[in-house]
Formats: sequence, C-alpha cells, structure tokens
Amino acid sequence: MDDPQTHSTVSILHNAVIVTMDPDSRVFLNGAIVIEQDSITAVGQSSAILRHFSAPAHRVFDLNGQIVLPGFINTHVHTSQQLARGIADDVDLMTWLHDRIWPYESNMTEEDSYISTLLCGIELIHSGVTCFAEAGGQHVSGMARAVELLGLRACLAESIMDSGDGLPTTWANRSTDDCIESQKELYKKHHNTGDGRIRVWLGIRQIMNATDGLLLATRDIAKELKTGIHMHVAEIAYENQFVTDTRKVDHGTVTHLEQIEFLQKNLLAAHTVWVNASEIDCLSRAEVKVSHCPAAAMRMLGFAPIREMIDAGICVSLGTDGAPSNNRMSIVDEMYLASLINKGREVYTNGNTDPTVLPSETVLKMATINGAKSVLWDNEIGSLEIGKKADLVVINPSSWTMIPLHDCISSLVYSMRTENTVSVMCNGKWIMQDNKILNVDEENVISMAKQASAEILKRAGINIPSRMNFV
Ligand SMILES: [Zn+2]
Repeated sequence: MDDPQTHSTVSILHNAVIVTMDPDSRVFLNGAIVIEQDSITAVGQSSAILRHFSAPAHRVFDLNGQIVLPGFINTHVHTSQQLARGIADDVDLMTWLHDRIWPYESNMTEEDSYISTLLCGIELIHSGVTCFAEAGGQHVSGMARAVELLGLRACLAESIMDSGDGLPTTWANRSTDDCIESQKELYKKHHNTGDGRIRVWLGIRQIMNATDGLLLATRDIAKELKTGIHMHVAEIAYENQFVTDTRKVDHGTVTHLEQIEFLQKNLLAAHTVWVNASEIDCLSRAEVKVSHCPAAAMRMLGFAPIREMIDAGICVSLGTDGAPSNNRMSIVDEMYLASLINKGREVYTNGNTDPTVLPSETVLKMATINGAKSVLWDNEIGSLEIGKKADLVVINPSSWTMIPLHDCISSLVYSMRTENTVSVMCNGKWIMQDNKILNVDEENVISMAKQASAEILKRAGINIPSRMNFV
C-alpha cells in the first residue's frame, strides 16, 4: 500500500470490501471509510464517499478490492509467556505448570516481560489483532511499555495469587492486601495511558490460587475503579473437584462464584470448559463474558460447551491463550479452529457432527464485536461505525489461500491465513503496512527474544529433555 505523502489528518480508504460488523451486519462490496485523527467519520459506498470527502490534501488509499474488517480482538493472551514458546510441548499438566511455566514466569525480569510482549505483539499484529486482553503476568509496567511502543490497544492485568500449593518461593505468601494494593498502584500508573489505548484490569489467576477474601475484594475494587476482572474459570475437571472439596459446594467454580456473588458483567472468564447447564444459566444471568480458546482447550482442557453458552445468550469471544499452551498467537487460526472443533463436538452431544453449528458470521462476531463487548470497550471498537475508533485490518484475498472468493464472510473464517493480513491500523495510525511492522524493528526484537529466552531458562534451571536422538 503506497502511503500518499501529505500531512492531512484525514485518510480515505476506498475501492474495498468493507465488512462493518455493525448491528445491521452491513458489507459494502465497493466501499470506503474515512478516518480523521483517531476516529471513523464516514463509512459507505466508494462513489458517494469520494464525492463528499475528496480533497487534494487528504491521504487517499485505493485498496483494489481488498477486504477491510474491524481489528480483531484477542480476549485471552499471556504476553509474558511468548519467550516460553516450545518449553512445554507434549507434557502433562502438572509438569507443564510446576516444572516449566511457574519456574519460567517467576524468573522473568521487567525487561524480559517487555521483550516478550514486543515479540507477542508482533505476532498479534501480523494476525490482524488491534486489541488484546492480557490474562495476567508479573510485570505490567514492562507490558505497558511494549504496548505503547507497538501502537496496540490492550487491557493489562497482573497475575494475582494469594494462596495455593507448590508456588515458587518468590510468589508464595503474598497477602490479599498486597495483591490489591499492587493492582491499585498499577491502575494509577498505567490506566488510560498511551493515548487512551492502555487500560488496567484486575487479575485473578484462578480459584485454586485465590481466597474468597481476594475474590470479594477484587469484585469491590473493580466496581470502584470501573474496570474489568480477568480470571481463568473452570479450566480442568480437577478444579471443580478442588472447589467442591474446599468450598463445600455441590458442583464447582462457577457454582461457588455465584454463591459468593462474584459473578458480574465486568468479569471476563477464560476457558469455562467444565460448566454444567445450571452454571451456564448463572453466567448468562450475570452477563459474564467468556473467552473461548479453542487450541489451548484441545491441547490441555477439553471441549467447552460453546454452542450451549451462545444459545443461552452469553457473549463468547476468542483468545489464543499463551504461547506454551498453543504456540500460535494467531486469532485467524483460532477462528478456523473454533468453527471446526465446535461442529465436531456435536458428535459427543447429539451423535452427529453438525456443520451448521458456529457458522462463519458467528465466528467473525466472536473475533470482533463480541471481543469488544468482552473487554468492555464496544462503545469505541469492535465494528466499523461512525464515531468509533479507527481500529481496522486490511486483508488481501487475492492469493492461493483464498481464491476463488464466493462468500467473503465464510472465506475469512475457513480459508484466510494469517499471511492474508497485509495492513493494520490502531487508533487511526498504521501499525503495519504491506506486512511491515512500523513501530519496532522486527529483526531486532527477534534477536533480543532469542537471547532473553535462553537466559531465563538458564536462570530457572529448566531443562527440556529431547525425545529424539539428535546427532
Ligand atoms: Zn490462560
């Protein structure tokens, strides 16, 4: 894409298929979009837009039939874990957590977190992501520095634990008060920074590492600060058993959270695999948002009842989870997997696969407008509408991956690859153009990442035994 050399603050993208994801699901087959400063000021037919808005000083981009979508929103990602990609492949869950991930994360410095977030952010941008929800890491300040530089939008959270067995010594014995105070400080320091692109949320790692006191204090502080809570919920069958044994409830995490009045509409629950019908009702009534992470679920957790949750009216969005749970941080891959896995899952619930489950338009909503609702930001992002922020992605469908193009919505979900994403704009500024990341030097980040990763593994004493005979 040639960037017209002007100093105007008005950009016009035209001759494009504009998939708005607005409430009427409008798609302009020969459309245009006007961006002034950081916001969208017009969307419509190319001819009408050019007639009304063209001026010599404006930056006009002819997209030659490429597709423009709202930027994708990844609602569950661990940016700190990017340097741990490949350190826990094909191992059981306890080895994954106790021998690999906890030692890795507890040995990270703030600089490591900065580099890890830069590397993760590069991969997110290449897959068309403009906004993500951090699941919780140790060094929010490092993450914030990277997000500010990359030009992305994010809801950042600290990894918060005030109880649990087997934690690394540096994490053990953290008091509930310390957990809350630390997050209040981070909120004060980073919330609404980076031209408003960075928000700070409260984190709860998971119920096995949280006292009820912490859960309730988090709920109250989130209300006071008017922000969200990000928590792993009902990830594995053992979690429900643990809650049943220790909290004396008859099912599991969601039942307990309902009983202590923790469930509310600013809770983003990641995974929610092990939930029964009455718990789905509880989540729906409380308007809790769910982040479905198809790849991570298949690798570690199990089949989440996504169709049932959508039928119950729950807002379900998509996440990649972290690199050691998935390896690929591409929301494009997650769209494809979400649709296929949930069609295949019908074999277990109805006896047959059902190709009509999770159709492409539903999956595209999960990655865009539902993502925006999940991160409590749908008044500004998630669709291409007048008045919203200019967060968008340009897709080139003219390649062997997507041709021929009969129905662009189904092609975006079933055929598109990460490589079809060519340009990405966030908050009115290009952060990738023609596949080139603009705000950081990709090669430099890769080289820093290789070195930082090797050093963390050495410090943490993590050895990855080989199962093959490398000679
Ligand atoms: Zn996670």
